[in-house]
Amino acid sequence: MPELPEVETTKTSLAPLIGQTITQVQVRQSSLRWPVPDDLSTLVGQKLRKLERRAKYILAHFDQDALLLHLGMSGSFSICTGSEQLRKHDHVVLQFTDENNHISELRYHDPRRFGCMLWLENGTHILLSKLGPEPLDDAFDACYLTSKLNGKNTAIKVAIMDNAVVVGVGNIYATESLFNTAIHPARPAGSITQPEIEKLVLEIKRILKQAIDLGGSTLRDYSNAMGENGYFQQTLMAYGRTGEKCVNCDTPLENLKLGQRASVFCPQCQPLK
Ligand SMILES: [Zn+2]
Repeated sequence: MPELPEVETTKTSLAPLIGQTITQVQVRQSSLRWPVPDDLSTLVGQKLRKLERRAKYILAHFDQDALLLHLGMSGSFSICTGSEQLRKHDHVVLQFTDENNHISELRYHDPRRFGCMLWLENGTHILLSKLGPEPLDDAFDACYLTSKLNGKNTAIKVAIMDNAVVVGVGNIYATESLFNTAIHPARPAGSITQPEIEKLVLEIKRILKQAIDLGGSTLRDYSNAMGENGYFQQTLMAYGRTGEKCVNCDTPLENLKLGQRASVFCPQCQPLK
């Protein structure tokens, strides 16, 4: 599933389209997670002005209108010249023309169709209304996280993956940051000490920055809109490594289900206390 770093990478890879005008809109399959608006063609004639990311959403601002985009489980964008054959699951095609009349196509591909493409209303959307702070913003600090974890019995891993606490900490990043800070994923959120919270906040930021720098990649077949693959996956210490030896102590890593998600940890380095 595309996670925050992949979405950030995707946003960056769409930047060459800023300043270009939409000249054609083709919706080949409108039933994504929510229906693609049937008036999407009102984008024709509008220039793409700005791209933003909030949590795992991309906000695409055009002259008059703005779109809220989400990649869901399996969505991806590709930019091509338009002469390439359309693939199965290329659901929406936006044709852009630049000032030299060069045409390019932005194709939205999504086999599982859990992604979305919706209008923003006055620059916002109800889907954005209950989101916690961005993990890389200064607002996400130890003081803030302490206030959110205080007195809670929820497993720490579930707590840091809650979008109302902080956005964008997906399973990979939660697993890795808890491994790197020696915190057992099932410990009650309220039992995490102040020094541990400080380390955890720094580690979440470090690992997300590293993943963004390496171009994302949580899926083997993930690639950005330019078709480039990310390298982050090769650096994982715990995620996806159940039964393999811990890099620190050689103990086989174990797997625990928390909030329906696999949670890999080292029973030696991350004691339950
Ligand atoms: Zn270990």
